[in-house]
Amino acid sequence: MTKRQRPWGYQDPQNAPQPNWQLHPDTIGVRAGLNRTGFGETSEALFLNSGFTYDSAQQAESAFSDETEHFLYSRFGNPTVETFEQRLAAIEGAEAAFASGTGMSAVFSALASLVSKGDRVVASMAMFSSCYVIITEFLPKWGVEFELVQGNDPADWAAALSKGAKAVFIETPSNPMMEIVDIAMVSELAHKAGALVIVDNVLASPVLQKPLELGADAVMYSATKHIDGQGRVLGGAVVGSDAYINGIVRPFTRHAGLAMGAFEAWVLTKSLETMSLRVARMTDNAFEVALFLESHPKIERVRYPFLQSHPQHELAKRQMSGGGSTVCFAYKGDKTATYEFMNALQVIDISNNLGDAKSLITHPASTTHRRLAPEVRAQVGITDSTLRLSVGIEYAGDLIHDLKQALG
Ligand SMILES: *Cc1c(COP(=O)(O)O)cnc(C)c1O
Repeated sequence: MTKRQRPWGYQDPQNAPQPNWQLHPDTIGVRAGLNRTGFGETSEALFLNSGFTYDSAQQAESAFSDETEHFLYSRFGNPTVETFEQRLAAIEGAEAAFASGTGMSAVFSALASLVSKGDRVVASMAMFSSCYVIITEFLPKWGVEFELVQGNDPADWAAALSKGAKAVFIETPSNPMMEIVDIAMVSELAHKAGALVIVDNVLASPVLQKPLELGADAVMYSATKHIDGQGRVLGGAVVGSDAYINGIVRPFTRHAGLAMGAFEAWVLTKSLETMSLRVARMTDNAFEVALFLESHPKIERVRYPFLQSHPQHELAKRQMSGGGSTVCFAYKGDKTATYEFMNALQVIDISNNLGDAKSLITHPASTTHRRLAPEVRAQVGITDSTLRLSVGIEYAGDLIHDLKQALG
C-alpha cells in the first residue's frame, strides 16, 4: 500500500482559485470558508478533536503567546467551527462571526460580553422568552438596567434612547406575532445614544434580511432554526465587525466556554449549502398557506409580513426580501377548541421548533412564551387561540389540505 500524503496542507492551504468578482450569497453559501487539507477532499473535513499538538515546546509557547496562528484547543477555536464561522460571515457580508453551542448562548454572549454594571439595555418587548429572561432577570442581577419598548412605536424608542444605552436588542420579525421593527430607524436613534444594535434575525434567516446593511452592528442567530433547518443539531452565532466579535465577544466566550462543537459546525456548514433553497421554498409555501388561512371563516386573523393585511406591510417589504416561513394566526374559538384543531392535523406536527423542513405548529401561550409576564403577553398580543405555524418544504397543496381537513 502506498503511503498517502499527510494532510499538512491545512496549515498551508492549497492555492484555491480566488474569483476576481463579487460572488452571489448563493455561491458563497456553498463555497466560503472551505479550507481543504492536503488530501484535497471535496466536502468540508470534520476535525472532531478537542486539542492540537505542537512540533516543539517552543512552538507551544509561541502559540499560547499568540505569536502564531496555531489552533490551541477547541474551546478557543477549531478548524471545522472556523469554516462555519467564515461561511456565515461571508453570507452576511460581515467581517467576523462567532459560533456558539446554541442560539441562547449567542444572545447571552452578545450582551454579557458588552455590558457592565450601571449600563442600560433597551429592547423591543416582543421577543423570544429566553431572551426576555436574560434581559429582565439575569443582566439585572449584575446591575445592568433594562427598558422594554413597543417595537413598532418610534416615539417609544426615542424616549427610551434619550436616556442613553449601551446596547439595543431587537427581534424582527418577532416570534410569534410577526411584528416588524424598523431596523434603520432604531439604529440611527441608537447610534446617537451611543448604543450598539444587536438584531435577533432568527425568523428572517440570513437569506431574507440583512440587518448590517440597514445600519445594525451585530446579528445573532439560532442556527438550530433555518440554518440547520432539518431538526438535527443546536447551534448559534453572533455576526458583526472584527472589533466587536474578536475584540469583545470572543475574549469573553473563550473563558465562559460557550463554544460550538465541531460535529455541529460540520452539520451546519453543510446546511448552509442548501439554506437559500430551503428558505425560498418555505417562503413560497408560507405565503400560500397564509393566503388560504386568511380566506377561511374559522380563522380570526392572520399575521404574515407579506400579506397586505399586515399593519407594517410596507416596512416589511422595505427591509425583507420575502415574508419568511412563519405564519401566525388566531383560531376562532377558546383554548380547548384551538387544541382540538391542532390535534386534528395529520401532516403538520405539534412541535415548538421553527425553520424546519417539516411544518410544525405551536401554541405559544402554553409553551415557548409561557415565561413572559402575563401582562407582557397580553400587550404583545399572544392569546389562548394564537398559533404559530412554521411552514416547511413539503408540497404546499398537502399542507393546505391538512389545514382544511382539521378546520372542517
Ligand atoms: C429559537 C430562538 C432563539 C434561541 O435559540 P436556541 O438555539 O434554541 O438556543 C432565540 N431567538 C429566537 C427568535 C428564536 O426563535
